[in-house]
Amino acid sequence: RKGTAIITGASSGLGLATAKALSETGKWHVIMACRDFLKASRAAKAAGMDKDSFTIVHLDLASLDSVRQFVKNVRQLEMPIDVVVCNAAVYQPTAKEPSYTADGFEMSVGVNHLGHFLLARELLSDLQASDYPSKRLIIVGSITGNTNTLAGNVPPKANLGDLRGLAGGLNGVGSSVMIDGGEFDGAKAYKDSKVCNMLTMQEFHRRYHEETGVTFASLYPGCIATTGLFREHIPLFRLLFPPFQKYITKGYVSEEEAGKRLAQVVSDPSLTKSGVYWSWNKNSASFENQLSEEASDADKAKKLWELSEKLVGLA
Ligand code: NDP
Repeated sequence: RKGTAIITGASSGLGLATAKALSETGKWHVIMACRDFLKASRAAKAAGMDKDSFTIVHLDLASLDSVRQFVKNVRQLEMPIDVVVCNAAVYQPTAKEPSYTADGFEMSVGVNHLGHFLLARELLSDLQASDYPSKRLIIVGSITGNTNTLAGNVPPKANLGDLRGLAGGLNGVGSSVMIDGGEFDGAKAYKDSKVCNMLTMQEFHRRYHEETGVTFASLYPGCIATTGLFREHIPLFRLLFPPFQKYITKGYVSEEEAGKRLAQVVSDPSLTKSGVYWSWNKNSASFENQLSEEASDADKAKKLWELSEKLVGLA
């Protein structure tokens, strides 16, 4: 049978390119988990995806109710759930003031981490129940949250500190708008959320890999400088960033190539190892990359897990 993969944020950029790459194999049905139904359906059409190769299901990660409703709706499709890809993200580098999710969490961490945390926890039993030979839960990471790299050292750097802001509810009350309890900084909030994504993947691996047989993985697909992720950046940045990545850092990767990379992590029979953060070298060959000290801190991962459980109502 075909595999079924859920991809969050499949209406643009990496998520769309991955959905397209998987649907083109003829071996996958993609559940596009998107907040804007019309945008997703237009995007799938414009990408030339066969209409029988995907189903769009509404998901707004900025609302925990929407996440719970999504899980119900997906179960009603009565399709097996073989792979889940947590890909959607918001990036607000120029925001002067924080914005908040429906549940009152700072938006970047609320969407990129907490929404996905609840989604992944809820869908774990569905993954476990699937009879697919290689079941996977993939959370898209980033080099920018990884302070052992050049890109990860561009200020403001990711830093979760002692997680006091998260413990305080990340709701803007007192000093609880950033995970570390610091002042609001949209670029840092994004990087922090990506560290959370990488820590969460490893904590899933430690807690559930043996018991469930599910492969947990993260990845850095390369710098996809052309996606909508940079939509809120200043115009000069958006003009110069793609050529800078192409010719100076040489970290640039096209949306199509990045989509193929993520599709590999979804379906390649050789990428079944769990707990891995995948990256690609210049020849587009995958390798197991090292995470920064903070992004591989097991104590922090455990603390993050427990605090996140409370915030999303699982504990
Ligand atoms: P895009 O902005 O193109 O795509 C982000 C997707 O997330 C969109 O489909 C967007 O939906 C969706 N999304 C945003 N907020 C929500 C929400 N509240 N609920 C549901 N969906 C939402 O960016 P990219 O494709 O670049 O980003 C995809 C992933 O890749 C992210 O995890 C990002 O961190 C990661 N990444 C990107 C890199 C890059 O260089 N671009 C580098 C490394 C990692 P909508 O279409 O409705 O806006």
